[in-house]
Parts: sequence; structure tokens; C-alpha cells
Amino acid sequence: MKLVIDPRRCKGCNLCVKVCPYRIFRPGRRPNERGVVVPELDRPERCANCRLRRLYGRTICGVCQLTCPDQAIRWEEEEAYEPRKVAVEY
Ligand code: SF4
Ligand code: SF4
Repeated sequence: MKLVIDPRRCKGCNLCVKVCPYRIFRPGRRPNERGVVVPELDRPERCANCRLRRLYGRTICGVCQLTCPDQAIRWEEEEAYEPRKVAVEY
């Protein structure tokens, strides 16, 4: 699972920055084309949902998503890593 912020919905209120117990959200630095400073993610793989939701089949934390007034936070499925054969010529 991968944590994402939808920049089209976020209004830059930084509530997510305040509530995450792992401090995964950091205040953003630059306004986007809508003039909104969207928070940045600091190593989102530390998030309990990113790491454990697939394993336990339920939401483990989700406080940020519950708090966000604009439903801008969600988790996306990630493609499984597929190793590919590499031809090495000598
Ligand atoms: S709580 Fe939602 S709207 Fe507010 S800054 Fe975070 S993602 Fe954006
Ligand atoms: S689900 Fe919990 S740990 Fe994960 S980013 Fe949101 S508040 Fe932080």
C-alpha cells in the first residue's frame, strides 16, 4: 500500500501534520498551481497502514484520513515488483 495526498483536493490546512503519530506529514514548502502548499511525505513506508494493512486486512491507523476535512488522503495499491531477466553479453 502506498500513502498519497491528492493535490487537487488538499487545501493545505496541515491537520494531517499535527495528527500523525509517526510525523510522516511535513509542512510543504512551495505552493502548487492552485496556490496551495500541500504537505510533503517523509518516508511514508513507515505508516502502519502502508506496512500492515494488507497483512491484517483492515485499517490499522487511518487517523490522518479521518481528520482530513477534504478527503485528500488515501492508500493506493502498488504493483508487485517483478524481476526481469537481463541478457548480459560478454
Ligand atoms: S489534512 Fe487534508 S487538506 Fe489538510 S493539509 Fe492534510 S491532506 Fe491537505
Ligand atoms: S495512517 Fe496513521 S501512521 Fe499512517 S500516515 Fe496516517 S496518521 Fe500517520
